[in-house]
Amino acid sequence: MNDADLAGEGLAMVPVGNDFPEIREAVRAICRNFPGEYWRKLEDTGAYAKEFVAALTEAGFLSALIPEAYGGSGLPLRAGGVILEEIHASGCSGNTCHAQMYMMAMLVRYGSDELKKRYLPGIASGEVRYQSFGVTEPTTGSDTLKLKTRAVRDGDHYVVNGQKIWTSRALHSDLMTLLVRTTPVDQVKRRTDGLSVLLVDIRESLGKGLTIRPIETMVKHQTNEVFYDNLRVPVENLIGVEGSGFKHILEGMNSERILVSHESLGDARYFIEKATNYAKERVVFGRPIGQNQGIQFPIARAYSEWRAADLMVRTAAAKFQAGLPCGEEANLSRLMSSEAAWNAGEACMQTHGGFAVAREYDIERKWRSARVQRIAPISTNLILAYIGHGVLGLPKSY
Ligand SMILES: Cc1cc2nc3c(=O)[nH]c(=O)nc-3n(C[C@H](O)[C@H](O)[C@H](O)COP(=O)(O)OP(=O)(O)OC[C@H]3O[C@@H](n4cnc5c(N)ncnc54)[C@H](O)[C@@H]3O)c2cc1C
Repeated sequence: MNDADLAGEGLAMVPVGNDFPEIREAVRAICRNFPGEYWRKLEDTGAYAKEFVAALTEAGFLSALIPEAYGGSGLPLRAGGVILEEIHASGCSGNTCHAQMYMMAMLVRYGSDELKKRYLPGIASGEVRYQSFGVTEPTTGSDTLKLKTRAVRDGDHYVVNGQKIWTSRALHSDLMTLLVRTTPVDQVKRRTDGLSVLLVDIRESLGKGLTIRPIETMVKHQTNEVFYDNLRVPVENLIGVEGSGFKHILEGMNSERILVSHESLGDARYFIEKATNYAKERVVFGRPIGQNQGIQFPIARAYSEWRAADLMVRTAAAKFQAGLPCGEEANLSRLMSSEAAWNAGEACMQTHGGFAVAREYDIERKWRSARVQRIAPISTNLILAYIGHGVLGLPKSY
């Protein structure tokens, strides 16, 4: 086999086992209508990508994971991941709407029939937006089990008091998943007990105990501080069992990590493709810059990291779908894919030289967004800590 054979398929950016090809192509077709210019303008105005979200909703992509009985397509988690991957590989952004997908597994598996009947058809049709997930708190951060937001039962309501931070899209969503403590930590056997998940109807709650304040960030992530002051949430809006919320939210977090990892795979593809094309075209010192190993090797390394991450993400999605424990694979997916995307982004930046910082190239926008993926939804150190003590049995740091 010679070099020509190896390069026979051109830029092999179609991953092994090109699954859901029709979905991939249909998503790419939508994304073609939302070029870099659209996303740059949103950054300038601070507006929400409502046209993009509407296009995805209309095409049925945001209801992909909702069971058919409730008006969705009932597709597996992997299909949702493929949608997000193609969005990111096309230069668009899934953080405008991905929560609807990653919270679905938890709502479908643990929500009561009544709750599902009330909300899922509206979410599937696009009438109701379910885009917000309130877990992180300003004082406790990654130490989720110490969260302080309290919900106290009062008749047929919970009364919620506390504060969350980084609750993304709360101002552009009708519903929010909220993790609260229903039993004080000193009254439970295990720290993981006593937490509960509530479905908050933002439309009914704003101004009645719910206050949302946007945070300015380096990416247009539409994220917020959220204050709860005697907010009343009907008891029937409890998802799953009171006190078992941590178990339920872990399921949501595994699906979140797997889905968001697909976004990083898409980012990596975007960067590798852009870098490779530019490295072939840009001629300096009388030859394409890609002929220099200083340019070529970081791109080649990024490609190999992307391929490895792709395999891990597929494994995680398959285990999740089969209902098997997948915490290790979900975390490894997040680690490997976010690092692959970041290293690909770095290679792409360096390959483009000065043009990398020109906004019209869109590379710096994607690079900023890839950086955030190493912090949210889980920071790299916390993944390593999980692997260290949860998988390898090393002593805990916390
Ligand atoms: C743009 C954006 C959107 C977000 N959206 C949401 C959302 O929609 N909903 C939501 O609930 N949250 C959201 N988050 C929050 C996100 O999940 C957290 O920022 C993230 O989990 C890290 O928590 P923290 O910021 O409190 O960091 P901290 O917990 O304060 O940690 C700070 C640093 O210390 C490290 N660290 C802490 N403890 C240890 C340890 N034992 N060993 C080694 N290192 C340690 C961490 O890894 C991190 O690097 C979002 C964040 C961002 C930036």
